[in-house]
Amino acid sequence: MSDFEGIIKAVHCMPQGMLLVGGDQEILFVNDAASKILNTGPSSPLLFRQLVETVGFDPFQLLNESGNTPFTREASIASTPYKATVFPVPGINGHNGVCLLLRNIAQEKRIDTMKSEFISVVSHEMRTPLTSIKNAIEIIMTRKTGTITDDQQKFLQIAERNISRVVNIISGYLDLAKIELGKVEFHFQEISLQTFMEGIARDFLARAQEKGITFSCTLPEGLPSVTADPQRLEQIVVNLLDNALKFTPDKGSITISSQPGEAPPGSGDRRFVKVSVEDTGRGIPASDRERIFDKFYQVEDSPARKMGTGLGLSIVRELIEAHGGKIQVESEPGKGSRFSFYLRIAAGEKRDLQFRYFFDREFVRASKNQSSFSLILIAIKNFKELRDSFGDQKGMLLLEALQKVLHDSLFRQADTLIHYKRGEIFVVICEVEKHGAEVVKQRIKKQIGEFSGDSLSEVLKKSIIGVGIATYPEEAPNQRELFRKAIKDAEEDIHGKEKDPDRGR
Ligand code: ADP
Repeated sequence: MSDFEGIIKAVHCMPQGMLLVGGDQEILFVNDAASKILNTGPSSPLLFRQLVETVGFDPFQLLNESGNTPFTREASIASTPYKATVFPVPGINGHNGVCLLLRNIAQEKRIDTMKSEFISVVSHEMRTPLTSIKNAIEIIMTRKTGTITDDQQKFLQIAERNISRVVNIISGYLDLAKIELGKVEFHFQEISLQTFMEGIARDFLARAQEKGITFSCTLPEGLPSVTADPQRLEQIVVNLLDNALKFTPDKGSITISSQPGEAPPGSGDRRFVKVSVEDTGRGIPASDRERIFDKFYQVEDSPARKMGTGLGLSIVRELIEAHGGKIQVESEPGKGSRFSFYLRIAAGEKRDLQFRYFFDREFVRASKNQSSFSLILIAIKNFKELRDSFGDQKGMLLLEALQKVLHDSLFRQADTLIHYKRGEIFVVICEVEKHGAEVVKQRIKKQIGEFSGDSLSEVLKKSIIGVGIATYPEEAPNQRELFRKAIKDAEEDIHGKEKDPDRGR
């Protein structure tokens, strides 16, 4: 065996997946582990487009954006989490190619979740006694319990300052753990960024002026509305502004700006608004830029180190990602920093927003825990015609009756029932695998078959209702496919009924 063959053999035996892509986007090499991960082989060769869709980013585009420096990203493939490392490989067939390594990090994620849960429990137990100590010290310091000497006052102040710091760390940690464990409820709405940001800017202006800092909030006219939870969005912006204020010396400047139609790094989707908070502060060294979003990470020689917890940016990143957005930082040490985040442009009505939120949440949870969930669609194919011939009121009654049947008799608390597209479709997200979903589908069909109600019997007779299911990850690797599969299944159900009207009734 030649050296070359030996190397190729070793690369095929590697536990990590490895792919080599030529500059013309041709997949040149896939080792055995990568073939397994990406479910590809000689009979189904991988196309670059499929690779991008599966890992969720375009390696060439991201390398370009990072100035050709290697980068690491997380990717969820068939509900298993991977760390993807990408680096440039110059001079392949005269072009610059890329190499992509995929490492399974499911075990690390599980340990991470256990660690988060453990620290959450401990932090939670500590918060109450610490808050009582803090309150007790504050009461003594107000001298309500009697006189104290100046020395005692000084020591109590030290104790109070330190306890406040610990309480801040614990509260920040608990906030973060709650978001990470999917325990924070988001209330998404359509938000006009212009009005929203102006409100925050008004409150911030006085604080900036106090420090002699010039502050401006310049948003372009006609900025589209975004989808966000107002309370959480405020938390994001205030956190970034607080940091800018903390790390910008007197007489510096802080600016909020925004551009619509910007695609987050690595995504071609331009249905986002980019919001930036820029300062003329101390800046962040290149080696720290990625890490400042890690828990408890603070730049080593930061003078404000003692004032913070190193948790603010981790919370900000989690909150932005929960909105389906991204955050990035650009900075020049000594000159300033620009933190930019991307928010989805709001399109359509609120029920769809709510659906997207639940769907995203369930998807993230299932990917993290390597568990399954199923989407169940109940669609009234001829809802518009029914409403036209029987009237709006009967139409609404039909929907209400259907919703009640679904609610009352079928689902556990944890399952989510959503009205989608003005009621023509109901969507249920169930934490069950394929077999469980099939059982639920049959139960729904039986319930609908036995559905009765005098005033509705005419409408019911004419209604064409289909039930479709799809299970993640068994039947679809991503959300779009899952939805498509469930719709197709519902259509087949309707088709079957149209051919044989007595079936399922
Ligand atoms: P904290 O501010 O509580 O230390 P963060 O997570 O908000 O924690 O920030 C982490 C670190 O990132 C900070 O300690 C600081 O070193 C750096 N940093 C954040 N924002 C800025 C900024 N606008 N300018 C310079 N450094 C920053």
